[in-house]
Amino acid sequence: MNQPLDEALTPGLYIVATPIGNLSDLSPRAAAVLARANVIAVEDSRVTAKLLNRIGTKRPMTPYHDHNADQVRPGLIARMGSEAIALVSDAGTPLISDPGFKLVRDARAAGHTVTTIPGPCAAIAALTLAGLPTDRFFFLGFLPSKEKARADAIAEIAAVRATLIFYESGPRLAASLTTLADGLGDREAAVAREISKTFEECVTGTLSELAERYKDAPPKGEIVIIVGPPGEAPVPDSADIDAALIDAMTRLPTAKAAGEVAKATGLPRRDLYARAMALRDA
Ligand code: SAM
Repeated sequence: MNQPLDEALTPGLYIVATPIGNLSDLSPRAAAVLARANVIAVEDSRVTAKLLNRIGTKRPMTPYHDHNADQVRPGLIARMGSEAIALVSDAGTPLISDPGFKLVRDARAAGHTVTTIPGPCAAIAALTLAGLPTDRFFFLGFLPSKEKARADAIAEIAAVRATLIFYESGPRLAASLTTLADGLGDREAAVAREISKTFEECVTGTLSELAERYKDAPPKGEIVIIVGPPGEAPVPDSADIDAALIDAMTRLPTAKAAGEVAKATGLPRRDLYARAMALRDA
């Protein structure tokens, strides 16, 4: 939905991304929607009041956070029929490691218009700083705080061939980096901190180098950990390939055997077929 910025808002739900540090990152469209919303659902009214003050407006606010969301959601959904309800979080994009998905789900189920006003998100901002592959990435939010649950969560994604993104806090940073190195191998990584604020930094290195760096000096501020994808699987040697082809050919026609081994090794099917023919005719 794309309304002119000077018209009254159509009733419905507006998901409004807000800055993750630098208040100048609030988009003009986000400011216009906030200034015209009938009510803004907020995590912390003090944080949002500061933002509204910055754009020279005051709007009614209502708390919407993990502890009251189930109670207040039906009332907000009812109001969306005739009013423009904006949802913000303290920083960044609502719903991303923040409340909101059930509000969107229920708004849709009730037939209300849902509009998003895209903007800052710490995960994406950190990804743009890290210098690690961006073609495939997997956002995991906060790791569990208990050690065993954290190690299990990491083991679960060890084979994912993508850059990984985690939110983390300073006091837990070194321990998390160590657990990540143990569970994923010593991959290339980055720690992005205080993005868009005065002390923004992005430190890169392997997971164990970063764990060592922060071990005795937990950093202050807000943090995103980015971990590069696993290295390429080693190419199997030719004896292993022959053995796999011979085994497959005992069960399958030659072309299918080549296909099976191609799938398992990532090697070109055509080359494997030629090798399978040579083995068969030898
Ligand atoms: N919804 C938000 C978003 O779009 O990024 C994230 C909310 S989550 C509750 C807060 C976490 O995001 C922080 O603990 C930190 O890991 C990360 N974060 C938020 N602002 C950040 C910043 N300026 N620099 C680095 N990380 C940040």
